[in-house]
Amino acid sequence: MTEAMPENGCCATPRCERMPLSESEHCYQHLPDEQAWRRRLEAVLSQLRELDGYNLSGAGLSKLDLSGKRLHQCRFSGAVLSDCNLDHTRWLLCLFDDARLTGCTVREAVVHASIIAGAEIIDTDFTGSDLVQSNFNGTYVAHSSFADCDLARSRFIAARLEHTSFVNCNLKDVLLIDTAYTDLDFRLSNPEDARFERSNDAPGGPFRHENLYP
Ligand SMILES: [Zn+2]
Repeated sequence: MTEAMPENGCCATPRCERMPLSESEHCYQHLPDEQAWRRRLEAVLSQLRELDGYNLSGAGLSKLDLSGKRLHQCRFSGAVLSDCNLDHTRWLLCLFDDARLTGCTVREAVVHASIIAGAEIIDTDFTGSDLVQSNFNGTYVAHSSFADCDLARSRFIAARLEHTSFVNCNLKDVLLIDTAYTDLDFRLSNPEDARFERSNDAPGGPFRHENLYP
């Protein structure tokens, strides 16, 4: 079922140096038949509970159901996920850097040692997830929910957070340094245990704790 990977490990299109997608010998930009690739992908997903070393970097993924999968060393770098279901997934060493998640659900997931840096996360629901020590640096997050999440030791450095729920979260040792935020809901959480800092020259000046409770 899986097509052989070209010997140099790159996309089969000449001079393309991107990694081929899993279930293809091409990168997403050079897929000769995207629908056929999607059908192969879904056939494999229906059989596998664990995806190891899967590469979906840069792929447009709409309404993909990954619920309940174990994702081990999987790459979604720069992927565009819309209305995807990642509920009850377990991530270990996964890359979602520069990915775009819109209308996705990642509820009651367990996310460990994974990188979500630079991602755009809009209208996405992480309710009830274990996101300990995750890297959200440089993300833009809007209209999303981290309610009931454990975010201990996660980093949101230089992120922009808007209209997002952090209700009933564990924020122990979360780093929010030079993070811009608007309309965040920290009810029942412990923002006093997070580290909020702003450089003196950041817009709005250095962070003061009362900034949290406008
Ligand atoms: Zn290519």
